[in-house]
Amino acid sequence: MPGVAFVAHCLLNQNSKTHGGARCPGVYSPLVEELRAAGWRLEQMPCPELAFTGLHRFWAVKEQLDTSAYRRHCRRIAAAVAGAIDVHVRRGDDVILVGIEGSPSMGVHITSSDPERGGRPEWPDGSGELSPGSGIFMEEIVAELAARGIEAPHAMGISHQLPDHDPAVERAKLRELMGAR
Ligand code: SF4
Repeated sequence: MPGVAFVAHCLLNQNSKTHGGARCPGVYSPLVEELRAAGWRLEQMPCPELAFTGLHRFWAVKEQLDTSAYRRHCRRIAAAVAGAIDVHVRRGDDVILVGIEGSPSMGVHITSSDPERGGRPEWPDGSGELSPGSGIFMEEIVAELAARGIEAPHAMGISHQLPDHDPAVERAKLRELMGAR
């Protein structure tokens, strides 16, 4: 039965990304095409970085964002998202989460990390900040769901900002995720 995909805000609004971060105009259509073909419903999660630091923010690694204020902010938004997931799970809907690999906030399996990063912002392309792990907002959603006694939904991250991004592999993973429950 078709379910519900809770997706990162920027997948439906690339304008929410940092300067230079958009991978296409507006909507990331491969995601929407796959969900639509399977008849799944889309729920757009808020963008925690846009709400916290606005459109003119710098790129940042996880350590730079991981302050108690940003955690509190993410926790507040995560509580609302978890509440919506809770409703769907309790009525038996299939739910998946789609984040963004490489994001300090929304990475699922890959985030960005560099404990030394700070000071004057210089971030050359190809710098080695990609690291295994999930982003701060994703961690807070999983924690909020656990506090409600709900198992974390199956999740994946869109890989369009990774150097080895393969559109066909990404689509196959998405289809697999939708069939995985
Ligand atoms: S990955 Fe998350 S925090 Fe970053 S731009 Fe997209 S929605 Fe915002």
